[in-house]
Amino acid sequence: MDFNDSPQEAAFRNEARTWLAEHAPAHVIAPGSKMTDVEESKRGRAWMRELFLGGWSGLTFPKALGGRGLSGSEAVIFSEEEGKYNLPKGPFTSIGTGMALPVIAKHGNDEQRAQFIEATLKGDITWCQLFSEPAAGSDLAALRTKAVRADDGSGDWIINGQKVWSSWAHLTDWGILVVRTDPSVPKHKGLTFFIVDMKTPGIETRPIRQISGASEFNETFLTDVRIPDANRIGAEGEGWACCMTVLMGERLGSGAHRSGVEPILDLAEQTPDGHGGTMIDDRSIRQQLAEALAEEQAERFFQARLRTMVSKGENPGALAGMIKLAYASRYQKTNGLALELRGLSGIAPDADDTQTADAQYHYIYSTVMRIAGGADEVLRNQIAERVLGMPGEVRMDKDIPFEQLK
Ligand SMILES: Cc1cc2nc3c(=O)[nH]c(=O)nc-3n(C[C@H](O)[C@H](O)[C@H](O)COP(=O)(O)OP(=O)(O)OC[C@H]3O[C@@H](n4cnc5c(N)ncnc54)[C@H](O)[C@@H]3O)c2cc1C
Repeated sequence: MDFNDSPQEAAFRNEARTWLAEHAPAHVIAPGSKMTDVEESKRGRAWMRELFLGGWSGLTFPKALGGRGLSGSEAVIFSEEEGKYNLPKGPFTSIGTGMALPVIAKHGNDEQRAQFIEATLKGDITWCQLFSEPAAGSDLAALRTKAVRADDGSGDWIINGQKVWSSWAHLTDWGILVVRTDPSVPKHKGLTFFIVDMKTPGIETRPIRQISGASEFNETFLTDVRIPDANRIGAEGEGWACCMTVLMGERLGSGAHRSGVEPILDLAEQTPDGHGGTMIDDRSIRQQLAEALAEEQAERFFQARLRTMVSKGENPGALAGMIKLAYASRYQKTNGLALELRGLSGIAPDADDTQTADAQYHYIYSTVMRIAGGADEVLRNQIAERVLGMPGEVRMDKDIPFEQLK
């Protein structure tokens, strides 16, 4: 397989580069700039609108659904070029495009597609993910939030329970939600998938204060939340299949959009080593950088392969976890190296050293990537079992009705 751009891909890259050079700079977040989360999400919506107007949204989405119907490689090329700019992107944009839209496109109906796809691509609707619960994270199918039909014959659902770690739920418009609708069957079988307007009465988001001072995620309480059956995605009891579509989108979305290594290479070349040379002269630093670059390239090619599988209608299954697993540990390693190169100022930067302050933020943040979207250990289990065919974990609760589990 030739991983260099084909003539068509090179032309596409050029087209993307030219468009981005004209439109991205106005949206770039300057290094060290402090924004409120309200401001950040507003700027995220503006960038999404710009992408939509320029025809750069939903690149791999079928044309019939408002996308461009391009290949996985073209999507990777665009992400790489876009990743050269520090743009306002985050869960407030990616949960919509990377998780809500794939599930609506695949499991939703025509009305839902018409209502949500274009509006999300344009940034008019943003999304949060209401999956995790205090006792259901890695073991998502153990979730307890429940929905029952209203007893007035309307077909509406009444939802009660608690979600947690709901990123940006306090500022997004809609949520993708998985709940238990049938506790009398084994845990994976009694789940149903919904979308919910976050302004529905009975939804309360309580921001969680993080070590960084920010509050990007929330506890979300649902008390007698009434939603119409029209908000159901897929059939009753098919929630797990919908979750798999969402998690696939989340894992494929991780990876080498933005080079983590090149800026650190530049830093190593510019940072004096105290002996008349620069840090790049240090053999151990060079080896760490070479290793990180090799990993980054491997991720990039692997991601192109997986996206191509998806665009051909194939299911990468547990392979998608490999990209997330590799990316998360490389991201953490390279951010650690960025601080190490700065020596003592990496620990205690001057007040006006915004670049080091940014590097510190990324280092602290990099630890969460090893948990969010599937923890390292859990992804390794899945790869061992489903890719390598090793013996499965013992799962005593798999076939027992949920209501009988202790
Ligand atoms: C920054 C961030 C943003 C998030 N955003 C969202 C969001 O928007 N919406 C949402 O629904 N969720 C969100 N999450 C939650 C995330 O999906 C969960 O944190 C994750 O699935 C792990 O679940 P947990 O925190 O309950 O940990 P647990 O499942 O309790 O795991 C704790 C530890 O035990 C290990 N472990 C668990 N089971 C096994 C096993 N079988 N074998 C070996 N080791 C195991 C795990 O690897 C981990 O190290 C977010 C998390 C983070 C960090």
